[in-house]
Amino acid sequence: MKPPFKDALPILERLEQEGFQAYFVGGAVRDSLLNRPIDDVDIATSATPKQVQELFQKTIPIGIEHGTILVRYNNQSFEVTTFRTESDYQDFRHPETVEFVKDIELDLSRRDFTMNAIAMDRNGKCIDPYLGQTHIREKRIETVRDADERFCEDPLRMMRALRFVSQIGFQLGLSAEEAIIRNQHLLRNIAVERIAAEMEKLWKGSYIHQALSILIKTEIGRSLPIFKDHDSLIEACLNRISTPFHSLPEAITCMHLLHQEVSIDEWCKLWKLSKSVKNRCHQLTRVYHYYQHQGLKPETLYQLTPDMIPEFVHLVLILDAHSSLSIGEVEHDYKLLPIKNRDELAINGHEILALLPDEKPGPWLRTFIERIEKQVINGSLPNDKQQIKEWVKKWNRQEKS
Ligand code: ATP
Ligand code: MG
Repeated sequence: MKPPFKDALPILERLEQEGFQAYFVGGAVRDSLLNRPIDDVDIATSATPKQVQELFQKTIPIGIEHGTILVRYNNQSFEVTTFRTESDYQDFRHPETVEFVKDIELDLSRRDFTMNAIAMDRNGKCIDPYLGQTHIREKRIETVRDADERFCEDPLRMMRALRFVSQIGFQLGLSAEEAIIRNQHLLRNIAVERIAAEMEKLWKGSYIHQALSILIKTEIGRSLPIFKDHDSLIEACLNRISTPFHSLPEAITCMHLLHQEVSIDEWCKLWKLSKSVKNRCHQLTRVYHYYQHQGLKPETLYQLTPDMIPEFVHLVLILDAHSSLSIGEVEHDYKLLPIKNRDELAINGHEILALLPDEKPGPWLRTFIERIEKQVINGSLPNDKQQIKEWVKKWNRQEKS
């Protein structure tokens, strides 16, 4: 058994000792069968949330109404969820009724895709009533039970299907694909934040190109903010994007630069993205514009922070098909910058004012510092307090004469 499961094994054993059933379920089982890195190990059990709380010393009721208790064990956290079924989906929101059940197969029947509906016991034996393992071997995403019904119940599943395509490169089963074409309009009823969370995973998937072509084929774009009003945007994405983005801001910046009719602010407003995402998009756009106008000059590099370099280089490679820019080249040139930000400038506003007794503080000072900063960055003035002071005094003399 692989390490993340081994760590959780004592929880399964404890539950079984008390006469409950317990299995590993969800993404961890799927990823293990796919030989992909395993994230969180989730556990499903016949014990009720209250029984789980009584059995383990450290528990946090993170979603008790849905049956989920977080169990802390050996400084690790495991989500333990009571077997449940869901029904009465109203207005395409979360299910109205959650019913705890005693049978793992009933629990598996509520899950979205067959590859996500496999339970594994503590000996590694799989319970797989919907042929998830076969579909994994055939690299196919199939819904558990009728695709139209499952997508109507919870339209977000259509976005999940697409992000799994992007993450693991599977095909969509024919019935799932056709059902998405019929039901994509229902995504308009889903909170945009939830769609954005899936979209973020889609942008970062290794098989993004495959996911984008299915996005077009299934017409899901017709139900997504911005894409629905800009047909050419998604075509442009398909033509240009074949490698994963590092982050959501990088993806949004790329969309904006590919199709400048839609501003960053509009993207962030309509997709309800956070302020920090928005700020990062503006930062990336600024660097890109510097690069467009003057190439990889010190002033361009100065707009970067080290963690932005991979995103910046990727954007350049997408937007300029002829570019051969590399991360190594940018990192090398970045290291040569005399200063990396204004705090590193050898002089500050007070020191400048002290040299210019006739001047009063004001907005001019900022412009003046920027002038010094620019010269230091491009190497025409050394970042040395004394030499900068000399330059300021000389400037003052020239101003006065
Ligand atoms: P990831 O690796 O991204 O976490 P995951 O498959 O574990 O992928 P989660 O969102 O963590 O996805 O959900 C855990 C499990 O819960 C899924 O594997 C699936 O069985 C079930 N599930 C999650 N969302 C839905 C949904 N909208 N409808 C039905 N089942 C779902
Ligand atoms: Mg998960």
